[in-house]
Amino acid sequence: ANELIETDVMIIGAGPVGLFAVFELGLLDIRAHVIDILDKPGGQCAELYPEKPIYDIPALPIVTGQELTDRLLEQIKPFEPTFHFGQRIDELTRQPDGRFLLKTDIGNRFLAKVVVIAAGGGSFTPKRPPLEGIEGYEGTSVHYSVRRMEDFRDRKILIVGGGDSALDWTLNLQPIAKSLTLLHRRDEFRGAPHSVAKMRELVAGDQMQLRIGQVTALQGSDGRLEGVTIKTKEGEERLDVDTMLPFFGLTMKLGPVADWGLNLEENLIPVDTEKFETNEPGIFAIGDINSYPGKLKLILSGFHEAALMAQQAHHIIYPDKKLLFQYTTSSSSLQKKLGVR
Ligand code: FAD
Repeated sequence: ANELIETDVMIIGAGPVGLFAVFELGLLDIRAHVIDILDKPGGQCAELYPEKPIYDIPALPIVTGQELTDRLLEQIKPFEPTFHFGQRIDELTRQPDGRFLLKTDIGNRFLAKVVVIAAGGGSFTPKRPPLEGIEGYEGTSVHYSVRRMEDFRDRKILIVGGGDSALDWTLNLQPIAKSLTLLHRRDEFRGAPHSVAKMRELVAGDQMQLRIGQVTALQGSDGRLEGVTIKTKEGEERLDVDTMLPFFGLTMKLGPVADWGLNLEENLIPVDTEKFETNEPGIFAIGDINSYPGKLKLILSGFHEAALMAQQAHHIIYPDKKLLFQYTTSSSSLQKKLGVR
């Protein structure tokens, strides 16, 4: 059975704003667990523009999406957040004792006193190739991510795509697969050059196949794939595969946030601007997912929202403790928490 993890705060979304929330909560002695459907931290910054420069982060005249993520991770390290990647929070319900029960798509459960929704534009969702009947194979023969490599041992695998995910999983799964074919529209790859070179080496050594073309149909029954039809320059042909991994990128969809009984306005969660709390006491919404008069969808707004949210979270988690306003520059107690004193 999946364990039940108890925590003060559950942060939904490991984008820049969810990450900085760990810091602001940590200064107030509040520990957090952070969950994201992606397999890595950074949200849009890491997934959509890791190498593009951002110019409007205070005091960082230029920083790329990935660098910002790395710096945030370094900054929150003293507070030892626990990350749970590759999982989506699907359910959020209040328990009779006032705490919140959260359930993920793979059955993990969390019990938290406070929930911080930092879900940005919603959950990143893999783009589904437009193939008839593909839904019926999802989760059994068609997968959009690799959670456990072992599940792919001795399989006849087809990987589709030309980016880093397609190349990385080609290189990782090739040694354990029964056979592996990489299929891409063009003989040009967007992935890291050293991965491309390694893949070409495997092809030259006959350890895998590379085909240029597109999948046009799937064959099989009861969720079990038995083969696919591909179209190449030479025409149509059938590939004998039992597993397909399409890596066509991700899009953002609001997803399960809509089912949690929270007020929504145009797919955003209205909050007040004092505490950034939703219509449900104890559930906060910060970053791109919230709305209030004058809201700007900027990273710096989310950082401010995290600081004010943490003040109210403190009232909920330590109802009898008085909160003193302190500077990190001069407070020895804050410096101890940060491990710099
Ligand atoms: P996000 O970064 O969207 O992260 C939210 C995370 O929550 C995602 O990883 C998502 O998978 C996860 N999530 C959602 N629902 C669930 C769920 N149910 N369970 C588990 N996980 C979930 N902003 C600037 O300030 N300056 C810029 O120069 C700038 N340039 C940009 C350039 C581009 C190309 C883009 C696309 C955006 C840019 N932005 C910029 C906007 C900035 O990236 C966003 O404001 C910022 O990422 C919002 O952070 P966030 O943490 O609120 O959400």
